[in-house]
Amino acid sequence: MATAAFETPKLKPYPVIPLVAAGATSHLKPYVASAAIQTAVGFPGELAEGWEQRAVAKMGELLDKYRSLRVYMDACVHCGACSDKCHYFLGTGDPKNMPVARQDLMRAVYRRYFTFAGKHFPTLVGAVDMTKDVLDQWWSYYNQCSECRRCSVFCPYGIDTAEVTMAAREIMDSVGLGQKYSNEIIGKVHRIGNNLGIPGPALEDTLLGLEEDTKEETGVDVRFPLDVAGAEVLLVTPSADFFSEPHVESLIGYAKVFHAAGISWTLSSKASEAGNFGMFIGNYEQLRKIALRIREAALELGVKRIVVGECGHAWRVAYSFWNTLVGIGAGGKDPFAIQLQSQLDGRYKQPMHICEFTHDLIQRGALKFDKEKNDGRIITFHDSCNVARASRMGDMPGGQFVIPREIIKAVANHFHDMAPGTIHEATFCCGGGGGLLTDDLMEIRVKGALPRMEALKNVVDGHGVNFMATICAICKAQFSKVLPYYGFEMGMVGGVHQLVSKAIRLGEPE
Ligand code: SF4
Ligand code: SF4
Repeated sequence: MATAAFETPKLKPYPVIPLVAAGATSHLKPYVASAAIQTAVGFPGELAEGWEQRAVAKMGELLDKYRSLRVYMDACVHCGACSDKCHYFLGTGDPKNMPVARQDLMRAVYRRYFTFAGKHFPTLVGAVDMTKDVLDQWWSYYNQCSECRRCSVFCPYGIDTAEVTMAAREIMDSVGLGQKYSNEIIGKVHRIGNNLGIPGPALEDTLLGLEEDTKEETGVDVRFPLDVAGAEVLLVTPSADFFSEPHVESLIGYAKVFHAAGISWTLSSKASEAGNFGMFIGNYEQLRKIALRIREAALELGVKRIVVGECGHAWRVAYSFWNTLVGIGAGGKDPFAIQLQSQLDGRYKQPMHICEFTHDLIQRGALKFDKEKNDGRIITFHDSCNVARASRMGDMPGGQFVIPREIIKAVANHFHDMAPGTIHEATFCCGGGGGLLTDDLMEIRVKGALPRMEALKNVVDGHGVNFMATICAICKAQFSKVLPYYGFEMGMVGGVHQLVSKAIRLGEPE
C-alpha cells in the first residue's frame, strides 16, 4: 500500500455518508501559475489593485453571457439532495465539498452585487463582499471540483455545479489567479501542439518505434501514420496515448482496428492532442483556439472523417462543442467551417468516438477476435464522467454506456459491472478530472477516489475482477496513481482498446 503524508480513507463494504469535518480540506490548493504562464495564455500575471471590482465585473459578464449560470445562482432551494453526491465530500467530510456549499461560495457574492436584497440587506440573505478571504476559499474549493456533473443528476432543478466551477475559475484567471497545472498545459498545446510537450520529430520516432514493436509482437506490418494527406480518417487522441502506460496499449489497439478493417488513417503533428483544458478553466477563447487546431489539421490533410480516441473530456468537447466552436460536423458559419463540412463524408457521424468506430465494424462483422486471449482478465468498466454525463455515443439513449461494454464483451469472456448507483449516469469520478490531475492535489485526488475504490473492491471480492477498463486518459493516469493507496495493483487499469488489441485477428503475418 502506498504511503502518504495524509491518511488514506478506509474502504467500507457500502457507501457511508461521512461525519461532517468542517475545514478538513481547506488547506488543499493547487500551485498558482507564475506570471509567465498566465500571460502566455492571455491572462493577467498576478492579482493587482482593484482585482475585486474586476472580478465582480467579470461575474456580471458571465451572468449575461451564460443564462444557465444566472439560473443556477437563483434556482437552488437548498433541498440538500446533492449534498452527499460528491465524491470529494464522501472522501473528506468537508461540508464545503457538498455541491450546494460549493455553489454557495459564488452565490453569496452573486447576491451581494446582482440582487436587490443582497445589495440592500446583505446579512439577511447571506450576501458577502468579494474579498481576499472569499477569493482564498474559491481558490481552494473550486479547485476541489472535478466538474464531473454527478451532483447535477440528483438535483431536482438540474443545477450543474461543474458550470459554476468553470465560471469561478474563469473569474479567477481574469484577475490573475490561475492554476499552474492547467494553464501551463494550455501554453504547451499552443507552443508545441500537445499537453505533454512532445515535438513533431519525437512523435514521429515514437510512432516508428510502435510499428517495430507491433511487427515484433504480431508479425504484421501495422502502420502508425503521421501527417498523411488524403487519408480517410484523422484520429485525434490524447497525447498520453503516445508515451504513457497503459495508454499506449490503446493506441496500438486503434492502429490494429484500422489495419484489420483496411481503412486508411493518420495522426496529425499539428493536432497531436485531443484534450482541451480550455474547458477545465471555463475559458471559451482557449476552448475555441485549441479546437481550431483540429479543424486546421483536418482541412490540411483533406480527411473524410474525424475520430476521437479514448479521452473523456476531449469527447465531451468534441461531441458537445466542436460544432458551434469550430463547425466540425455542423454549426459554424465561417468559410473554413463550411469548407470542412463539405469535405467530411456526410454518411458518417462527425466526429465519431473510436468506440463507435470499432463497435460499428464489429456489428458489420468486419473484425474478428480470439476472445480467449483475454481470459486472464476478469474485467469491469469504469464510466468516465465526461462521457457518461456530458455526451452520448451511437443513436440510442445511453449508447455511451452500452457501446464500450459491448466492445468488451466482444473481445473478452469475463465481464462484471460494478454496482448500480456507481456506474452509468451515476458513475463516480476517478477523483482526478477537471484539471486536478496534478501532484500538488494528491490528497484530494486520493480521498476523492474513495467511492470508486469501494465499488471496485466489491467486484474484486465478489467476482475476482482484476482489470478495470476505461476510455479516458485522465482516469487511466489517476487510477494508476491512486490504486496502490487502496491496496490494488496500479496495472489493473487500462483501456477498452487495450483489450481489443489483445484479441483482434490481423490476418496472416506479412
Ligand atoms: S461537479 Fe462533481 S466534483 Fe463538482 S461538486 Fe458536483 S459532484 Fe462534486
Ligand atoms: S439538489 Fe439542487 S436545489 Fe437542492 S441543494 Fe443541491 S443544487 Fe440546490
